[in-house]
Amino acid sequence: MLEVKNAKMMYGDLVAVDHLSFIIKPGEIFGLLGTNGAGKTTTFRMIMGLLEPTEGEVIYNGGKVGYHNVNEIGYMIEERSLLTKITVKELMLYFGQLKDMDPKLILERLDYWLERFSIVDYKNKKIKELSKGNQQKIQFISAIINNPKLLVLDEPFSGLDPINTELFVEVIRDFQKKGSMVVFSSHQLDHVESFCEEIIVLEKGKAIISGPIDQVKKDFKKQNIHIVGEVDVEILRGIKGVFKVVENSNGIIVKIENEDVSKDVFDYVKTCDHITKYDVEQASLSEIFIAKVGQIHEEV
Ligand code: ATP
Repeated sequence: MLEVKNAKMMYGDLVAVDHLSFIIKPGEIFGLLGTNGAGKTTTFRMIMGLLEPTEGEVIYNGGKVGYHNVNEIGYMIEERSLLTKITVKELMLYFGQLKDMDPKLILERLDYWLERFSIVDYKNKKIKELSKGNQQKIQFISAIINNPKLLVLDEPFSGLDPINTELFVEVIRDFQKKGSMVVFSSHQLDHVESFCEEIIVLEKGKAIISGPIDQVKKDFKKQNIHIVGEVDVEILRGIKGVFKVVENSNGIIVKIENEDVSKDVFDYVKTCDHITKYDVEQASLSEIFIAKVGQIHEEV
């Protein structure tokens, strides 16, 4: 288990992370979200013991996290900074041995992952000869070569096509099934929504949203009603509690303040003709993110 307890990190006068607390249990995928500069990378560095919090602490399996845990951790950094003049095989031997792995085991696992990521032919190629996406696969493999118990992924999906994104997701899920703890950051909130249980959204180092995704959505009262049919948009806009009506090629989205408003919208829609769809949907994580971060900026 990983426990971040009231962690604060200052760079000079700047508070990069402000009294942050959360827990990740074995087999859990945890999403750390936030706008640029919100404090995600700083949090990752504290989690892995690379940065000592100015206040608070990070506890990994009962003890203070530190260099002694390095062999159990896998880290994919946001900057895609691989050593480009050496081959994939040389690079993996280097990273694996930094984690005290036996070279034979490194090469066995490398063959497995190259096969799984369909890049077997690149084993003896120099990193610089690989495409950006394939370099990203190598960076990912370097983070998982030691079968980490704690996998830390800073923006693992950025720049990946949908097929490779799915491949990464499958591998991350396999680590989850084996009981690893996974913590990752992403600006692609649809991924976050589809595959992690728990999130924290940081803004200026503070947690502004935290908890299980289902709960976060439930707590966010605003909802969307998706309507397809002949309705008068102006009448919908006039209903109390409707704060926005958006027309698009898939129909009409009526944004409401809370679920009570849906009754009034429904009472009106019942009087309309040719209604083929009426769905009340929870707000997406992306909408919640924009609303909460926007609110913080308005308050400042
Ligand atoms: P991004 O999404 O852009 O990668 P982030 O959420 O990972 O951002 P951090 O890199 O943790 O954010 O940065 C948090 C804050 O701390 C920012 O204001 C950043 O400028 C500052 N910062 C980060 N590293 C340092 C450092 N080594 N020295 C001084 N300030 C730093």
